[in-house]
Amino acid sequence: MHSFHYQNGQLHCESVDLTSIAEQFGTPTYVYSKATLSDHFTRLNQAMNKVDHLVCYAVKANSNLAVIDTLAKLGSGFDIVSAGELFRVIKAGGDPSKCTFAGVGKTRDEIRFALEHGIYSINVESLAELEAINEVANEMGKIAPVALRVNPNVDAKTHKYISTGKSENKFGIDFGKIEAAYDDAATRLKNVSLRGLQMHIGSQLTTIAPFLEAVRKVVPLAIALKEKHGIEFFSIGGGIGIVYHGSLSSGAPEWWQSEENTQITIEEYAETLVPELTSLGLRILLEPGRLIAGNAGALLTRVLYTKKGDTKTFQIVDSGMGDLIRPALYQGHHEIAPVTEPKTTATEKVDIVGPICESGDFFAQDTDLPPLAENDLIALLSAGAYGFTMASNYNSRPLPAEIMVDGGSVHEIRKRQTFDDLIAGESVLP
Ligand SMILES: *Cc1c(COP(=O)(O)O)cnc(C)c1O
Repeated sequence: MHSFHYQNGQLHCESVDLTSIAEQFGTPTYVYSKATLSDHFTRLNQAMNKVDHLVCYAVKANSNLAVIDTLAKLGSGFDIVSAGELFRVIKAGGDPSKCTFAGVGKTRDEIRFALEHGIYSINVESLAELEAINEVANEMGKIAPVALRVNPNVDAKTHKYISTGKSENKFGIDFGKIEAAYDDAATRLKNVSLRGLQMHIGSQLTTIAPFLEAVRKVVPLAIALKEKHGIEFFSIGGGIGIVYHGSLSSGAPEWWQSEENTQITIEEYAETLVPELTSLGLRILLEPGRLIAGNAGALLTRVLYTKKGDTKTFQIVDSGMGDLIRPALYQGHHEIAPVTEPKTTATEKVDIVGPICESGDFFAQDTDLPPLAENDLIALLSAGAYGFTMASNYNSRPLPAEIMVDGGSVHEIRKRQTFDDLIAGESVLP
């Protein structure tokens, strides 16, 4: 589901007109739908009902307190990758005992912070890290609950920058070494308890086959570890892809249709994987980020200038790679929807570019869009995940505002940064 649709010729989020949001809060602005966030979480949670499970939303996809709070109230756990993310979860009222902590480079301070707050599991990405966790726990007089992250060496068939489950990726511990690592930890490391097993093979997967291959490969290991070491959970990670092309659900005009409109549905994901997992007798953890938040958000921006070059027409907008870096970073695609519904099916080939001094600063290149004029508002759809969380102040541009729509209500969940925010903490030499 997603909640961006045309109504009376105007693009709405739930029942709020995006033009009114732009007028009230300015542009660029991120707009999120609470209903979509809740719907995606609830559907996944229900689809997994046949097995004991915990959905741990991956905070790095969208870490706004209002997003965390919305999901925490639905019972979500959280997958975090830094102490800063755990701090956000705690501030938003999330439960640390439902949090798992991933990431290849946790510092000792971060490990300590996680243990102080009674985290559910630290997911260990290397043997060296496991030693550090044991030492920190020992200093604190605690037993650290851990799960080792197995790298199953499965090709997720996604963009190489967001693939994580091949042996050449930096993530996890090689499949062939993992059982020995558990055995060694059980005999030698007195301040860790082996609570689970974890994997995560990549992001934006659009077919189910790599998930199934990875689960089938790792289930025998999970069984062995349960018998030998009494582990209680198996996390199958996140990575479920979403529709970026042609994502407006109803009344999508012809220029939206695209053959790349493939996606794994929540139901297909659960129906395929649950039968592989039910007999394990382990609690299954899921760590979706993009699936929950991606389609729940859009970036609202305004056309500043139209520039007709010799070979191209550029629509220069007031947002850029600083606000949404996915196109520049890994050729991410975002559907572009004019906020006022086009009256014709006519299109023009244009580049949508930002104000930042980089040639990589574009949202779309050589794309067919309805004619746009200066001051027109457009929405970059499916920008709810890895959008604001990856934003930067490059070119000293204040970060955009974030708005959450709940039915007919509009909530400012993060104020647009001011110039003073830009220099906060800086000083000149005396
Ligand atoms: C990023 C990440 C996720 C979430 O990935 P999505 O593609 O957003 O679902 C889950 N688990 C781990 C360990 C991650 O690093």
